[in-house]
Amino acid sequence: MIIDDARALLATGAVCDSCLGRPFADRSFGLTNAERGRALRTTVALADDEDFEPTDPDTCWVCEGHCGTFDAIAETVVDALSGVEFETYQVGTQVPPLVEENERLLREDAGLEPDVGESMKREVNREVGRRVGAETGTDVDFDRPDVLAVIDLAGFDPLEAIESGEVTSHAVDVQVNPAFVYGRYRKLERDIPQTEWPCRECGGSGVQLGDDGEEPCEHCGGSGYMYDTSVEQVVRPHVVCAMDGDEGTFHGAGREDVDARMLEGGRPFVLEVKRPRVRDPDPAELEAEINEAAEGAVEVDGLRLATYEMVERVKEHDASKRYRADVAFADSVERDEFEAALAELSGTTVEQYTPQRVDHRRANLTRERTVYEIDGELTEPTEAEVRIHGAGGLYVKELISSDDGRTEPSLAGLLETDAEVTALDVTGVEGEDEPFELEAYFRDEPRS
Ligand SMILES: [Zn+2]
Ligand SMILES: [Zn+2]
Repeated sequence: MIIDDARALLATGAVCDSCLGRPFADRSFGLTNAERGRALRTTVALADDEDFEPTDPDTCWVCEGHCGTFDAIAETVVDALSGVEFETYQVGTQVPPLVEENERLLREDAGLEPDVGESMKREVNREVGRRVGAETGTDVDFDRPDVLAVIDLAGFDPLEAIESGEVTSHAVDVQVNPAFVYGRYRKLERDIPQTEWPCRECGGSGVQLGDDGEEPCEHCGGSGYMYDTSVEQVVRPHVVCAMDGDEGTFHGAGREDVDARMLEGGRPFVLEVKRPRVRDPDPAELEAEINEAAEGAVEVDGLRLATYEMVERVKEHDASKRYRADVAFADSVERDEFEAALAELSGTTVEQYTPQRVDHRRANLTRERTVYEIDGELTEPTEAEVRIHGAGGLYVKELISSDDGRTEPSLAGLLETDAEVTALDVTGVEGEDEPFELEAYFRDEPRS
């Protein structure tokens, strides 16, 4: 009988309503543990015709007062989160080992299973969370909350907290999860890397050691960078600032060569902002601000607020690429030979051994890649413009040049003359099976 169990629990010493109710937490959904405990205490008093004696948490031997501190903890969490915008939260609690031991002893002394009902940890998480949610108008999210508050019950004195109505801020650790902005970028000029590229001579410090001590690095002119700017450096400061965050990380859906432009549809990217205090900046305003400041070298398009899953999506989603290339031939090429070579390459699968220009840390192996479509015009006997649509990972410069026979077949190989890409533009990056931009990856409404 539940009343016998309650009587046995009450016989262990002074036990507060929450601690008395917790072993029965799986009964009667909709009650708090304190309400369960109070009802059982009342029922036992009536059944035994004893005087009713309430027990406050500050005299409870099990929680040692902690069950009376939910309001105080919640107050401190709300304070710690002031100035931070969030829609979802989660609360985590570290319970001192001694209190956990008390919980086990309480059940054991009353002849119950040692872990019956709910743990104190879960009760604190829920009770504090409920109060934080009610006060801030936000919802709990156990999966991916905007903010996470971790409470260390050993970090404050519960009796003092009951007295003062707050706990020391050292006992509450508030973590703000990153926020994400998705978009596509275009790079309208060459020699702009996608991400920040520190100078390889000075390691980004901008200084070198001369005869008279430190002097500006000769290689980078003291900037610390290989190039004056990057897409990342154009985009990042505005997004970090609009979200009032601490720092930002740029994630691109692959990257083009530094000397290639990125035109037309642009390339997907996500800017991740750490510790954002604002989560809902206006993407259209942000976009206009970035484009104005970039002064034409870089443009962004289609900015939207994204979920954290979008980072993995831009990095992992299979995408085909479109290119436009200026090609120079060593010997004159006949128009019909040129067209026959393109017809042969169109729709074919090429074998590409790791190009000589690629980072030597990358494994050398032969990859098969499909050229979906290729066409072009001979503009001079030794010059052509070529447009290529190929599977992700296709090395386009090598498809043209053959890379000393490492790519087979190739335009140079079919025409039996040296061929070289003199200028390359990427004109499209599109998901192979479905677009990057599925609504499930966005937090805002589609822009009209
Ligand atoms: Zn208690
Ligand atoms: Zn340098």
